[in-house]
Amino acid sequence: MSRGDYSYSDRDNRYRRGSLLMKCLITILILAIIALAALLVYEIRFREYQNPWAQAQAQKESMEAAEAALREESEKNEQSAPDSGVVPLISDEEEDSLETQANRLALQYDYDGAISLLRSQPGYDRNDRFKNLVSTYESTKAGCSAYPIDQITHIFFHTLIWDDAKAFDGDEDEAGYNQVMTTVSEFDSIITQMYNRGYVMVSLHDMASVADDGTLTTKEILLPPGKIPFVLSMDDCSYYHYMDGDGFAQKLIVTDDGKVKNTYIEDDGSVSVGDYDLVPILDTFVQQHPDFSYHGHKGVLALTGYEGVLGYRTDEVYKTREEGRITEYQRAFFEANPDFDFDKEVAEAKAVADAMKAEGWEFASHTWGHINPRQYTIEQVQRDSQRWHDWVVPVVGETDILIFAFGADIGDWQPYTYDNEYYAHYKSMGFNFYCNVDSSVKAWVQVGPDFLRQGRRNLDGYRMYYSPELVSDLYDVDSAWDSNRPTPVPEM
Ligand SMILES: [Zn+2]
Repeated sequence: MSRGDYSYSDRDNRYRRGSLLMKCLITILILAIIALAALLVYEIRFREYQNPWAQAQAQKESMEAAEAALREESEKNEQSAPDSGVVPLISDEEEDSLETQANRLALQYDYDGAISLLRSQPGYDRNDRFKNLVSTYESTKAGCSAYPIDQITHIFFHTLIWDDAKAFDGDEDEAGYNQVMTTVSEFDSIITQMYNRGYVMVSLHDMASVADDGTLTTKEILLPPGKIPFVLSMDDCSYYHYMDGDGFAQKLIVTDDGKVKNTYIEDDGSVSVGDYDLVPILDTFVQQHPDFSYHGHKGVLALTGYEGVLGYRTDEVYKTREEGRITEYQRAFFEANPDFDFDKEVAEAKAVADAMKAEGWEFASHTWGHINPRQYTIEQVQRDSQRWHDWVVPVVGETDILIFAFGADIGDWQPYTYDNEYYAHYKSMGFNFYCNVDSSVKAWVQVGPDFLRQGRRNLDGYRMYYSPELVSDLYDVDSAWDSNRPTPVPEM
């Protein structure tokens, strides 16, 4: 072997040793990679396995909890739950009825009411039908804007004339009826025209809220574009004795099915029940056109007390029959009704007032004696208010609305102050809303720190005959005018 060989074989040995080391390293590396990969795969698989299990477990638990709550609920609702199967949270019928209720609230612009009604139902989070409705209400509400409170108009009527021939019969009352009253056919036309123009009936209490200390804050009336709020009032809904036989309703009653209707005395003495005056006519109209009413609110009835309210003889004098106070009309009434029972009369009147309030109607004082306060001393006014409080409030409940008789007021256009003894008196009696008559402008609203005043517009024979242009924003007089109305309407 040559040196060179040796050295060759020496070099060869060194090379072989290096190659072995390399092989070992590579093997270790490969094993490490495999181990790492295996660990990774295990880790991923473990997690994949672990998570769905936890989820399924949580789902199962929450479903069991929901089912338990549901069983408890249906047990509470005295419905015996079937032994097997999942009881639905709300039945289809209940869901339909809730949708109808919510739609009606939304139709009357009470979007918050509709939303909270559905949201408060059990299982709302899983009820796509309710969730879709709520998002519709939310987007409709987002398209609404607040109507300026000081631009809200207020219209008023008296008892409506049902039978024109009897009201316009040439007797001594005809002129008065022709001037200050509206016939049923005119009223039908007026509200239909106003509805078609986008008018929506609101309450004075939608315009401002009253704090415990008697201060007022204006509220927001949210309406969709094109809708115009207005207040409606009806004066002297007493069915006074002098109107007997002149073609007016007799009284308001509650029917067996809970509806407020009128009675009407026919020529043969029989009693008919139906929509003979403003209250049931408007109730029926709103039933057919719910969107004519904001949050279900209707009109406000301005009542006196001296011959009772709503056609019921509930005043003190009908109880005491005190000589010196009793009128010829009242004497004739007792002769015609020998079985008159005062307590029964009050109870019936109260039932009517309660049913009306439930239907969205409100009551206002028109003063007990139909007085213009400033023509009387403050002591006389206080006595009048006391009679209102003693003989009308027990029937219709408390009210904070004062609608002056004769379109009068207790001050000029400047805001009321406590220096005005009439204001100080009425405010102390709890009145916060005060209405006069002002047809010269479309709207007159004055909001003071502790009162809201509003002018009202008369839509009667006098207004329609002499200044139809003053109501053209509300309706077209030519199409509403009742051709049975004698002309010219007598001047005042
Ligand atoms: Zn009046």
